[in-house]
Amino acid sequence: MTAKPPSYFPAPRRARYCSQCGSPVARRIPEGDNRERDICDHCGAIHYQNPRVVVGTVPIWEDRILLCRRAIEPRYDTWTLPAGFMELGETTAQGAARETLEESGARVQLGGLFTVIDVPQVDQVHIYYLAHALGPDLAPGPESLDARYYKESDIPWDELSFRSVVTTLQHFLDDRRRGVFEPHRYSLESHH
Ligand SMILES: [Zn+2]
Repeated sequence: MTAKPPSYFPAPRRARYCSQCGSPVARRIPEGDNRERDICDHCGAIHYQNPRVVVGTVPIWEDRILLCRRAIEPRYDTWTLPAGFMELGETTAQGAARETLEESGARVQLGGLFTVIDVPQVDQVHIYYLAHALGPDLAPGPESLDARYYKESDIPWDELSFRSVVTTLQHFLDDRRRGVFEPHRYSLESHH
């Protein structure tokens, strides 16, 4: 019996072999570039690495906000807005709606772009859209232990998953009090 190793998602991803031809890669600055890349001297492929985009929503039903309790690491068993990595071939809006459906079972009508958050220390950009649920029914998927709509006064601030979730919720509540929703762009550069 061999135990299955745990899966993980290294970022930045350091390749040892070329994903195009399988030869070992070398790390150096390509001609005309200004930073080191993984380069295959056998087939010529240059393996650029770039930030990944996380897309999600702030889904509302009546006056309540949808949160999902994570069934996966990192931050297992904490509450998050529905969000996940954008897939190839989809738009940010499609990805946000897809993640919302997958994690909570909620079908939503997307509203405007709400937060765009740079998280350079993990090479990510987080993008949240406003969203209205088309009904109250929820069916948490395999990545969620639970999903439910929270009144503002019941939001579990001490058990939220990520700073981008905390700050997006704070902006949402502030904008709702002012009666004006507008996009917010900011950076979460380090942990304080
Ligand atoms: Zn190659």
